Amino acid sequence: MQKNKDNSMFKASWTYNEAPESTDHIQIKKKYDLYIDGKFSKPIKGKYFDTLNPSTNEKIASVAEATSEDVDAAVQAAKKAFESWSKLTGKERGKYIFRIARLIQERAREFAVIESLDGGKPIRESRDIDIPLAANHFFYYAGWADKLAYAFPNRNPKPIGVVGQIIPWNFPLLMAAWKLAPALATGNTVVLKPAETTSLTALKLAEIIHESGIPKGVVNIVTGAGETGAAIVNHPDVGKIAFTGSTNVGKYIQKATAGTHKKLTLELGGKGANIIFEDAAIDQAVEGIINAIFFNQGHVCCAGSRLFVQESVADIVIDKLKNRMETLIIGNPLDKNTDIGAINSKKQLQTIENYIKIGLNEGGEIYQPDCNLPKNGNWCAPTLFINVSQSHRIVQEEIFGPVLTIQTFRTINEVVEKANNTPYGLSAGVWTQNGAKMFHLTQKLNAGVIWGNTFNKFDATSPFGGTKESGFGREGGLHGLKPYVKFD
Ligand code: NAP
Ligand code: MG
Repeated sequence: MQKNKDNSMFKASWTYNEAPESTDHIQIKKKYDLYIDGKFSKPIKGKYFDTLNPSTNEKIASVAEATSEDVDAAVQAAKKAFESWSKLTGKERGKYIFRIARLIQERAREFAVIESLDGGKPIRESRDIDIPLAANHFFYYAGWADKLAYAFPNRNPKPIGVVGQIIPWNFPLLMAAWKLAPALATGNTVVLKPAETTSLTALKLAEIIHESGIPKGVVNIVTGAGETGAAIVNHPDVGKIAFTGSTNVGKYIQKATAGTHKKLTLELGGKGANIIFEDAAIDQAVEGIINAIFFNQGHVCCAGSRLFVQESVADIVIDKLKNRMETLIIGNPLDKNTDIGAINSKKQLQTIENYIKIGLNEGGEIYQPDCNLPKNGNWCAPTLFINVSQSHRIVQEEIFGPVLTIQTFRTINEVVEKANNTPYGLSAGVWTQNGAKMFHLTQKLNAGVIWGNTFNKFDATSPFGGTKESGFGREGGLHGLKPYVKFD
């Protein structure tokens, strides 16, 4: 599944041996029910859907489809549990959250394998990034549970009640952790819905949440598609909605909650600018470009999907980037050598392929390394487009795949204007050895998260979120507590 062209200046001669992670001892059930009121129960209408392995499109398991009746049962369980959960001391609540964090660590391998099987991401990423970050998130917010008075001095923070949480398929367990940990630490109860294509790690999480002994009804996990999410959004007893997903669905949810008592946070799409100045450490920057756009197949809301290179170094950066792309290994997500795994679904692959066609029709010049993609499953070669401009759709719209557009610039003002010229405002990256330039840029760029000489770095202690059509509200850090409390 790897490819080789021997003209790469970075590549030593090496042999590629497949080393897939074993799936022995990984417990995956044939059929998954809903986790409501501390029990796994069948959906009221009895419907199930298939979850597939995107690297083969073979079925892994059946997953329950929750209808509005099931969502209502989950909300009622959460409402009842809120009465006592919200009265527990922060220290007591924290104990359960610490326990969940420890259980994730203990089962880390199992979580990593299931995440890669169900979602298509390379095992190296799920093992080294997603799962440890998810555990850290629970540890971090467990620590806040008994310190809320210090987080909001003299303000007497109180939990909101039942919180509805809806998450996407790109970081399934991690997004569940980002949602659940702060909600529980602040004393809320939860109904959470994972994305249809990646429910399995959320359901594994339901198993360990159960094992943690947390009181029944505090966490309810309901699976299903968009309609299940809409039933959560529209339920009158839900006091807050936390949504991560596309800008289109975010807009729908904002309309649906307008004029109601519901609080709302939206973490939506992005089209991040990654800016390379001529004085940057070029080799590190090239690695940064690769990580910014090819991490998780580019299924990353904050991906650096628009590259801006200062004109004087554009040729060398693009050459080095192409050479580096030749060395990327695309294939079995369970293989520890894999750099780029499977596209999450057939539907997402069609979206990406459609954008590649649009890019070509718009006159963009495409580059893809010479690679043999596996026959079955959903695959997309890492892709560059040069000769593109601000008006091109592939420069303006979120593709959510391994596709990078490259533009050049001469001056700081020019790149600021180009970088900010998008409806989104989630992330940006700046590569320069000049500290003053770095600070200047971070003031001028309109994005919620800006990385300096790195990209796609996440930490439970730092807030994450967008501006403009990338949404509002922050997750992570002290800021991440605020959306889950109200004040007298
Ligand atoms: P999506 O289609 O908006 O779906 C997100 C979640 O919402 C899924 O659980 C989905 O269910 C559910 N949903 C769909 N229609 C709904 C409705 N009418 N009411 C309530 N819920 C509904 O997005 P996606 O394709 O899964 O994820 C990719 C998007 O998420 C990208 O745009 C990406 O940028 C964004 N994202 C943002 C962040 C961030 O922090 N800003 C992080 C990750 C991803 P089903 O999938 O089961 O249909
Ligand atoms: Mg799947």
